[in-house]
Amino acid sequence: MNVLKSLLDLFFPSQCFSCNKRIDKELVLCEKCADELSYIKENSCIFCNRETKEGLICEECKQEYPFDEVVSAYTFNLPLQRMIHHFKYNEFKRIGTFLGNSLADRISKYPFYSSIDYILPVPLHKTKKRFRGFNQSEIIARALSVKLNIPILKNVVKRKKFTQTQTKLKKHEREKNVANAFQVKKFGIIKNKSLLLVDDVLTTGSTMKSIALLLKENLAKHIYVCTLARA
Ligand SMILES: [Zn+2]
Ligand SMILES: [Zn+2]
Repeated sequence: MNVLKSLLDLFFPSQCFSCNKRIDKELVLCEKCADELSYIKENSCIFCNRETKEGLICEECKQEYPFDEVVSAYTFNLPLQRMIHHFKYNEFKRIGTFLGNSLADRISKYPFYSSIDYILPVPLHKTKKRFRGFNQSEIIARALSVKLNIPILKNVVKRKKFTQTQTKLKKHEREKNVANAFQVKKFGIIKNKSLLLVDDVLTTGSTMKSIALLLKENLAKHIYVCTLARA
């Protein structure tokens, strides 16, 4: 087995996921690219840049988004974009664990952390999951669950509508695109619970908003949102 591993290392050496430089196999980025990763500035609203007392959503934006708190780890700069690309198409476990651990560190600094009952990965439609082979939000959720010692709730929110990819849509089009896309199953379990919604990248927040509204309709107590990056 070790011989096989050494051969694999020889023919497929570990490479930095951003610049392809050879690196130790325990690492995911070379030193230079790791230095370029940039944490999101705290105490400023992720949606409107207003100053916040804590976390990444201001009181005004809480009127528009039903989130009690938002945490995102990194800005979406080049090394991170490349990592997320690899994360979606291959090598998902190593990258998911690396970035998930870093997000967990960030979350554990906030007082709301101790009130989270369950972690909820944003679901993929089953056709998309079959095509990709995994749901990237579940991989991040797993890393968070291990690090923060909070259980994951699976199969509570279901994506019932196959939505087109949102990348090229404007904010109001995105909201329309994901409206009624989700459904809550087993709603008894979320009643009065504080839930941490997990996704890879936060863009306009319309997917998270659609799920959060549904969870609150079904009497969830708090909805916290976390993502690896803010695009
Ligand atoms: Zn590099
Ligand atoms: Zn704001």
